Amino acid sequence: MSQPSNPPTPPAVPVDALRTALGDATPVVAPDDDGYHAARAIEPGGVEQRPAAVVRPADTDAVVRAVRVARDAGAEVSVRSGGHSVFGLGAADGALTLDLRDLDSFELDVDGRTAWAGGGITAGAYSRAAGQHGLATPFGDTGTVGVGGITLGGGVGLLSRSLGMTIDSLLGAEVVTADGEVVRTDADHEPDLFWALRGGGGNFGVVTRFRFALHEVSQVVGGVLLLPATPESVARVVAAAQAAPPELTMVVMVMPAPPMPMIPAEHHGGLVVMANACWSGPLDQADTALAPLRDVAARAGGALLDGLRTAPYPSLLEGGPEGGPLVATGRTFLADGLDEAAAAYLLEQLEGSDALMRAAQLRVLGGAVSDVPADATAYAHRGARLVGNVAAVARDAAGAAGYTPWVEALADRLRGAEGAYVNFSLDGGLDAARAAYPGATWERLRDVKRRYDPQNRFRGNVNVPPA
Ligand SMILES: Cc1cc2nc3c(=O)[nH]c(=O)nc-3n(C[C@H](O)[C@H](O)[C@H](O)COP(=O)(O)OP(=O)(O)OC[C@H]3O[C@@H](n4cnc5c(N)ncnc54)[C@H](O)[C@@H]3O)c2cc1C
Repeated sequence: MSQPSNPPTPPAVPVDALRTALGDATPVVAPDDDGYHAARAIEPGGVEQRPAAVVRPADTDAVVRAVRVARDAGAEVSVRSGGHSVFGLGAADGALTLDLRDLDSFELDVDGRTAWAGGGITAGAYSRAAGQHGLATPFGDTGTVGVGGITLGGGVGLLSRSLGMTIDSLLGAEVVTADGEVVRTDADHEPDLFWALRGGGGNFGVVTRFRFALHEVSQVVGGVLLLPATPESVARVVAAAQAAPPELTMVVMVMPAPPMPMIPAEHHGGLVVMANACWSGPLDQADTALAPLRDVAARAGGALLDGLRTAPYPSLLEGGPEGGPLVATGRTFLADGLDEAAAAYLLEQLEGSDALMRAAQLRVLGGAVSDVPADATAYAHRGARLVGNVAAVARDAAGAAGYTPWVEALADRLRGAEGAYVNFSLDGGLDAARAAYPGATWERLRDVKRRYDPQNRFRGNVNVPPA
């Protein structure tokens, strides 16, 4: 998206020099070329980015050559992996966009329980490949999200309370830095860079390969339990999710029921709680662990749908929203929980809004996420027990913008703690960066940025300016 003010024009991307450096094997797509529209497209609707050139490297060497051309020209580099950045920074205006989707390798060491994965693989492709061996690395709840973006921001998902955030399973990375050098980093090599990659976003270079730990996760009990939304039921579902053993993680949506075939027609449009649960403990203990959730449903008049079932873990990441013409606006917040008064306010607001779609998402954390010290990685909000989002959807960007004051006010009311989870921030401005990275984390990130990207070549992200 264009900036409101008129910043100085950044150095142009030298398209001819890129073509010479990359050769025929790696096409460079510029605005006048056929295929430019498809090459710059990203997942979220309504985001129109116009990079100066899009390159789709097939290996680390091509990334190095492209980054060196950008370095010599002083041009900005933006990185696209799964393309799910909700404000489209993976393809920044005027930048050289590196589209990593062909870096989708997956090399598994079954005995060692580790894998090297390409910087452009999706969470779904990774999880399906690992799942064939009964293994998993925790990502989010949607398979089409890129491993690159979710990992570098932190990664919260259906295994967070049992196995921690994605970054807690990151063992190392191969990074092409702003000066075009290939660096291997882990806890023992360039440890400050490794610290910064675990939550600091795409600020520090192009990650061409990630090395992850894998965990034994085969069959889980998961899926969606749907129940009528009342202030009591919303607050009780959140409380049950927080009180559950760490092997149970829940992502709770509160929204008007969409007209999906799996939801009885008479409930379409009525406010519902959609609890997306994943039990990754022993299967014979699942019913006991899920009993409090089912009990809340019973007290609310009965579940409208009980889709909780034993299933292979990767199947829980399938489906999810399609990219398309609809445009969303939203705000994220942290909280310790959600009481009945806050739930009543939330339902009142969802009921009163005329947005095409509107929802609150409440991700209950704690468990293994909070076991890691706040300064161990660049994700500093380890104590936050709930990460939330509120969103409204319209047919176009102008319509969505009209709902921004509404989502802001609602998020302000539900917010219980300072800060934000960077992967849910809806802009890349300084306020978003400061919310994501408080105090000492901010200072340390700026120092690492100064060492690895002093010219701020990688600024298509929630940007940390060099110290
Ligand atoms: C439908 C949907 C569901 C989501 N679900 C979850 C969820 O369950 N849990 C969660 O934590 N988040 C979730 N997110 C948020 C998601 O983690 C972020 O939007 C993330 O940035 C997307 O990563 P991406 O690679 O798909 O996006 P991209 O737009 O391709 O990349 C986003 C940014 O990440 C950086 N980046 C990506 N790959 C690399 C790389 N290899 N090297 C260097 N920089 C890189 C770049 O700065 C880029 O601008 C969801 C988002 C959507 C739209």
